[in-house]
Amino acid sequence: MSLFWLSLTHVSLVLLCGGAVPLRLCSAVCPQPGPAAPPVSRPLERRGAAVGRAFHLNKLDLGAVIEFRLACAFRELREVPVAAEPRCAEPRCAPFRRPALQGGAPPWPRPGPPSARTGAVMAAERERRFYRELPKVELHAHLNGCISSSTMRKLMAQKPDLQIQNGMTVIDKGKKRTLDECFQMFQIIYQITTRTEDILLITKDVIKEFADDGVKYLELRSTPREEKSTGMTKRMYVETVLEGIKQCKEEGLDIDVRLLIAINRRGGPAVAKQTVKLAEEFLLSTDGVVVGLDLSGDPTAGHGQDFLEPLSEAKKAGLKLALHLSEIPNQEAETKILLGLPPDRIGHGTFLNSATAGSEELVPLVRQNHIPIELCMTSNIKTQTVPSCDKHHFGYWYSIGHPAVLCTDDKGVFATDLSQEYELVAKTFNLTRSQMWDLSYESINYIFASNAVKSKLREQWCKMKPALFD
Ligand SMILES: [Zn+2]
Repeated sequence: MSLFWLSLTHVSLVLLCGGAVPLRLCSAVCPQPGPAAPPVSRPLERRGAAVGRAFHLNKLDLGAVIEFRLACAFRELREVPVAAEPRCAEPRCAPFRRPALQGGAPPWPRPGPPSARTGAVMAAERERRFYRELPKVELHAHLNGCISSSTMRKLMAQKPDLQIQNGMTVIDKGKKRTLDECFQMFQIIYQITTRTEDILLITKDVIKEFADDGVKYLELRSTPREEKSTGMTKRMYVETVLEGIKQCKEEGLDIDVRLLIAINRRGGPAVAKQTVKLAEEFLLSTDGVVVGLDLSGDPTAGHGQDFLEPLSEAKKAGLKLALHLSEIPNQEAETKILLGLPPDRIGHGTFLNSATAGSEELVPLVRQNHIPIELCMTSNIKTQTVPSCDKHHFGYWYSIGHPAVLCTDDKGVFATDLSQEYELVAKTFNLTRSQMWDLSYESINYIFASNAVKSKLREQWCKMKPALFD
């Protein structure tokens, strides 16, 4: 055991299978032990039903659904609050009672120094504003999982004939969605996005929402989808997403958008080869908009080895690789194989640094190749691959100075945005605004676009900095 490992503290993550998987975190950056997960028990039938639903969704070729499936496969299903929702300070949110006028002093308080509570609310608002105004880079965003409730309402209104049971209730629940309801969101999304015009609408809405959230550079990812009922082919799907990106640019949105074409593991190596071919064509024809490939989907489907050949070919052709790796425990063998490529970025990497679930060999491999890791805290908490925020593996990678990028994964389904992810990480690990600025600025290093784009973004960041720290 090296000194490196001795310097770390062990914590345990109890999994459904009953085994305890020690997860190593640096005590220096995780000073507060998180609340222990309550003991959970749930009838096996219900868990089985959830897994079944997940597999059904995977059959539907939804790349972003992976996190749900893997959570159900090895963890109990239970609702985990992501973060305390800020109490709304808007007067309209409280029931209005007109005070009875009885003469003399009015019954409402006279203006005076703000109370401690008002001060706390104002401080929270300032914090929220800072993270919204902070320029940000988003590198792990599945198009379908990013669709917001408002876009879903628009699409459902266009399809009054669709009978979606419980649809509006689930959509309106936002952050309060349970894991089961998150599953339902994906089912609804799939039903309401069958035409190219739907894909155009969701692409443009998602890009606008990221732009409103202060994201200046975005890499979207999506699995090409065909829909026999409407005649949409995989090629048409990609072309439509690219059209959405183009239209947003023409409308002058202050955001640079690129696309990663996703391989869903469930499709197997044959479909992966077709996807690589399609991605290579778009790499050559889109003047740098298509920049790479994503590998996602059910992590237990197939083996990493099956995808080695198509991924190597893609790399040779100039496509950058962002691979979901080690999302579940005990994938050491396949992770090691895929790290040999090596990928240009790793999605989640939740169990890379876990002694029994990962391997002491994996961390050195990742570090030697300086492979940045895309970290999505709310997604991991909501899907229960990480037990609490303070135990998130961001703490480990940040403490050793390894490249880490904060991302959202599926912002619509998890009802989050990148500003909230930054704020959550800052609060959890007691990081200053200046440290969060650095984290955002350094993310530029890990984008897949050219060095010229990186330089432009760095200039933009530097121009915005003085106003932010005024
Ligand atoms: Zn993902």
